Amino acid sequence: MTLRPILIHPDPRLKKPCPPVTEFDAELRKLAEDMLATMYDAPGIGLAAPQVGVIRRVIVMDCMKAPEPPRPMVLINPQVIAASQATSTYEEGCLSIPDQYADVTRPAEVTVRWQDLDGAEQQDHFTGLWATCVQHEIDHLDGKLFIDYLGPIKRQMITRKMEKLKRDRARA
Ligand code: ZN
Repeated sequence: MTLRPILIHPDPRLKKPCPPVTEFDAELRKLAEDMLATMYDAPGIGLAAPQVGVIRRVIVMDCMKAPEPPRPMVLINPQVIAASQATSTYEEGCLSIPDQYADVTRPAEVTVRWQDLDGAEQQDHFTGLWATCVQHEIDHLDGKLFIDYLGPIKRQMITRKMEKLKRDRARA
């Protein structure tokens, strides 16, 4: 397993709509393993391929909280096929936007269809934090970040902070 560097917003690769995965090969398996390791190391509860610079429709997540056993999930070509009318609001963050958090309102429950690493179709119903997380990660595959749900002033403020963070890191 290799930890991969996580891109920090703003970065053009985080704004790109990702094409679907068509090859279910060893390279995909390696990508998924690396993404899970990178997510756990961060630590985070979700990570999308574009965040490590791979413009393909792959997400990983694990919203279990210790002492519950981990539940690593790999979703290839995930699609929300049904969403509840009821919404819920969570304070979201993002590994590509470190230390910035804001309330985002989304459907409280979603049904998602995806392919596993063998290309087999899977489907599950997500609630609570899992529902928020899977929607946040699928957004990444369409070039959308959680700050895109905020007003322009708040979004600009966060973007400026990230530009400064990147300048500081480049100088270090
Ligand atoms: Zn994110």
